[in-house]
Amino acid sequence: MSTTAPTDTSLTADAESLSAEEVLARMVDRFHPQLFLACSFQQEESVLIDLLLRIEPNARIFTLDTGVLFPETYETWRTMEQRYDTQFETFRGMSLARQAADHGPELWKSNPDLCCAIRKVAPLREALSQVDAWTVGVRRDQAPTRANTPKIGWDAKHGIWKAAPLADWSDRDIWRYIHEHDLPYNPLHDRGYASIGCTHCTLPAADRSGRWAGNGKVECGLHG
Ligand code: SF4
Repeated sequence: MSTTAPTDTSLTADAESLSAEEVLARMVDRFHPQLFLACSFQQEESVLIDLLLRIEPNARIFTLDTGVLFPETYETWRTMEQRYDTQFETFRGMSLARQAADHGPELWKSNPDLCCAIRKVAPLREALSQVDAWTVGVRRDQAPTRANTPKIGWDAKHGIWKAAPLADWSDRDIWRYIHEHDLPYNPLHDRGYASIGCTHCTLPAADRSGRWAGNGKVECGLHG
């Protein structure tokens, strides 16, 4: 892993002018099969998976299974795999029993940063150690911390390239694409959840304020 950005700028030079499909095509052309699409079963990933698999049917998709996802999320996972006849690669942290033994029960209440570090950040690091680039569903209007997200940039934290093809899409753009293509999506979105994470840390909300509501935490450490 290198934390120094490569000097070759051909990947990023005109990236801002590219459509989502063009960003994905460039990433596939340059990196597949050393390219991962991260899926956490948000509405953005419904779009990204569809776009990516049209370009490369064997594209690699991974998910982080924290063990405390909503039943609806696990069902969406199965539905997506069936629709696209693919299997998502899965990464997990330590077992919930071991976490409770080492750090106490309900770590998501006592120390959510540590819980995310164990159940999300460490498995993510393991996943990304296998590839040279990854693609995410981050959009600039999701949160102030995401406002400057480039469509393609160097991820110094993980030492690989990172693409956000939907960076300039709005929520309306996402839902238009989902409905026009009759895509599977997490049904929790229809019950007031704009952003969906683990059961213990997600409340219905019109934006990401439903994640870790009330304790000031805004990111799980995957993109910051
Ligand atoms: S979102 Fe909550 S339950 Fe999930 S890993 Fe983070 S702190 Fe733990």
